[in-house]
Amino acid sequence: ALQEVPDVSVPRNVRVNTLKMDVDSALVELQKKYSVQKDDLLPDLLVLPPGTDLHDHPLVKNGSIFLQGKASSMVAPALSPEPGWEVLDACAAPGNKTVHLAALMKRKGRIIACELKKERIKRLNDTIKLSGASNIQVLNEDFLNINPKDPSYSKLKAILLDPSCSGSGTAASRLDHLLPSKAAGDIDTERLNKLAAFQRKALQHAFLFPALERIVYSTCSINQIENEDVVKSLLPIAESYGFQLAKPFPEWQCRGLPVFEGSENLVRTDPAKHGEGFFIALFVKKDANLSARS
Ligand code: SAM
Repeated sequence: ALQEVPDVSVPRNVRVNTLKMDVDSALVELQKKYSVQKDDLLPDLLVLPPGTDLHDHPLVKNGSIFLQGKASSMVAPALSPEPGWEVLDACAAPGNKTVHLAALMKRKGRIIACELKKERIKRLNDTIKLSGASNIQVLNEDFLNINPKDPSYSKLKAILLDPSCSGSGTAASRLDHLLPSKAAGDIDTERLNKLAAFQRKALQHAFLFPALERIVYSTCSINQIENEDVVKSLLPIAESYGFQLAKPFPEWQCRGLPVFEGSENLVRTDPAKHGEGFFIALFVKKDANLSARS
């Protein structure tokens, strides 16, 4: 059963970077000072009491553990790339999910971390360096400009697409809405529409890579327009490329809003219960061997 958490006291999570330290060693080390448990869903996640501040902890400084919430830590495992695969993180900076992919792939295979904004590349490089991963290639590029027919992507098996979003599921954003300058109900519809248009374009682009078997689309937004609506609008295209929605974390109770048939495959996290409001959709190729498109 999932842990029920009171609204105002959400536990802190740390993700153990298994490239540098095994989970049990991290547990033993942290238990010297804190009350720590293993998470009931993610094997590399530890749960600490609400309010625990580990920013200056040596294990954080040396990259053995990452301060990463549960919702954010569910995204790379939802994609579950196999060691040895070629994987693209389409919108990568600051790189938390990129290096989580690297840990899940156990240093085997190739990860391409694509990031549009030059000023965010340094942060991405710093995260990668801290993680100790050596199979990540950083690409300062617009994902939409990557040519799926380029031979260097002919073996790409999985794409993690975590595009720019409103961030309405994050703690900072939810506090922001309490500011007097933001009147109740004053949601910037134009901004949301623009974000959703980009998200749809990016997800549509992901389906074009010929050898692809899995796509994860995720946001840290709670808005239907950036989440279920994006997925719903792409279902016919997904279908035409041989993809269908799959159900990651079947034991997870909080699913997509029931706005289309199949939305129970989607994962949502509730900001009040889980610290942040995330959304995850997993597309899987129906038959990876038979459905190769010309
Ligand atoms: N996945 C990251 C992580 O967990 O650390 C967070 C990604 S953040 C939500 C989205 C990122 O996508 C931003 O760094 C943004 O600059 C980048 N981005 C936006 N549009 C892009 C595009 N067209 N191509 C590549 N990256 C893009």
